[in-house]
Amino acid sequence: MEKYDVMVIGGGSAGLTVASGAASLGARVALIEQSGRLGGDCLHFGCVPSKAFIQAAKEVSIARKAASFGFDVSGAVDMSAVKKRVEEAVASIQQHDDPERFTELGVDIYFGRAEFVTPNALLIEGEDYVYGKSIVIATGSSPLIPDIPGLEDVSYHTNESVLDLEQLPEKAIFIGGGPISLEIAQAFSRLGSDVTVVEKASSILSKEDRDIQEVAIEVLQEDVRIVTDADIQKVTKDGNGLSLHCTVDGKDLHINGDMLFVGTGRKPNSEALNVDKAGVETDQKGFIPAGDDLRTNVSHIFSIGDANGRYFFTHAAGMEGKQVVQNAVFGLKGKVNYDQLPWVTYTSPEIFHAGMTEEEAKESGIKYKVYQTTLDEVDRFVADHQTRGLVKILTDWKGKILGAHAVGEGAGDWMQPVLYAMAKNNGIGSLSNMTYPYPNHAAAVQQTADLFWREKLFDGPVPAVTKKLIEYKR
Ligand SMILES: Cc1cc2nc3c(=O)[nH]c(=O)nc-3n(C[C@H](O)[C@H](O)[C@H](O)COP(=O)(O)OP(=O)(O)OC[C@H]3O[C@@H](n4cnc5c(N)ncnc54)[C@H](O)[C@@H]3O)c2cc1C
Repeated sequence: MEKYDVMVIGGGSAGLTVASGAASLGARVALIEQSGRLGGDCLHFGCVPSKAFIQAAKEVSIARKAASFGFDVSGAVDMSAVKKRVEEAVASIQQHDDPERFTELGVDIYFGRAEFVTPNALLIEGEDYVYGKSIVIATGSSPLIPDIPGLEDVSYHTNESVLDLEQLPEKAIFIGGGPISLEIAQAFSRLGSDVTVVEKASSILSKEDRDIQEVAIEVLQEDVRIVTDADIQKVTKDGNGLSLHCTVDGKDLHINGDMLFVGTGRKPNSEALNVDKAGVETDQKGFIPAGDDLRTNVSHIFSIGDANGRYFFTHAAGMEGKQVVQNAVFGLKGKVNYDQLPWVTYTSPEIFHAGMTEEEAKESGIKYKVYQTTLDEVDRFVADHQTRGLVKILTDWKGKILGAHAVGEGAGDWMQPVLYAMAKNNGIGSLSNMTYPYPNHAAAVQQTADLFWREKLFDGPVPAVTKKLIEYKR
């Protein structure tokens, strides 16, 4: 039986971070991946293809808007060309996850499904048993399919299949108002589909700060129809298409379409792992919880990335993976800090989120201040004709940043200075004390931070004191 210092189950963002990191430190590492290729969801069905698809749709949308400059753009979108663009992006980034790169680092790669046989031994499908001192579960997640009568009798899509469509749907229905569904729904609308998003809660983007949510929804509604508070009763076939039957505010609503997308959350890929053979506990949904040091209830077995059910982001998987390298290789108990974990919803405009929302600050009872700037006050956004958006930064009484939120074109990039300030524990004032090249988009951050100084210097006792000082010096 092969013996390893670290065995990693799952070759996605989380698992690859651990495998390369641990091998680079000199550990003997096994990486086990069931699908026959590395990269996981992010590369094959998630971040990369969806962003390539969104960009293609954005270019189509911009071209259509060029009519206002006298360019008469007409015609239908060639979905095979869109698909080719997506495939090219995936193929190009796939090179980073080439198995050879990992074998050169000293990682032994096994392609096959792994399952626990004891707390330290795994059985790999088609292979032998392997033994490891530490085991890292990085098995990811898959689309959760809700129990809707009739759903199994119609053809529907998830993020794993929707970008393979050869024909642009005329009328697309998206179940679910979370980021995955909204990003793809808006892109289909921009390519030319008539899109309805159906959400069972009273609002979409429920994790966002309410002010940000309101602006985002207003802009998104220009592209997609949003139905909230929808209680879905069933799905039926309707000619060549389908019909979604819901009750909204006690009234029946039938939505017809020729494409149905299901984006109603994620479920863990833990079923086949047989974690009970290792004594590892799962939660009610089957996710494998881990503490902040990423250990499960069995101390040499770690659970990271989507598998632990905490955050479903590639950068969260990477952050956890880096911590596990230290904890698994050196037996440390280092912890990850999720307080400042940011995320971005890549709709147009983008929605940026870090730290507390105002609702969370209120609920915690903490004394907080809010500084905010609308993008119509920022020269670059005015020049770009993209003035709808908002930056909102929450601080404590001394200016320590508790949360930062934005909605605006490219917000995922130009809000980055706030994350640096948060990471370095620099107050909001530090974001004002830098020179921003005029007229960049990040000036929205500076203008928001300027409000802190304005309040401190001009609204407090300082002007009275300086006036006295000037009079004295005269
Ligand atoms: C449409 C979409 C868009 C997204 N966009 C973004 C984005 O813009 N930014 C962002 O940060 N995140 C995004 N995400 C989330 C991101 O893709 C995931 O958080 C990330 O892929 C999780 O990485 P992971 O390593 O935990 O799991 P995965 O990438 O799912 O990898 C798990 C791997 O484990 C393998 N595996 C499972 N069980 C076994 C077993 N028993 N034996 C061996 N191998 C096994 C699987 O085959 C898989 O390759 C998006 C997700 C989706 C669906």
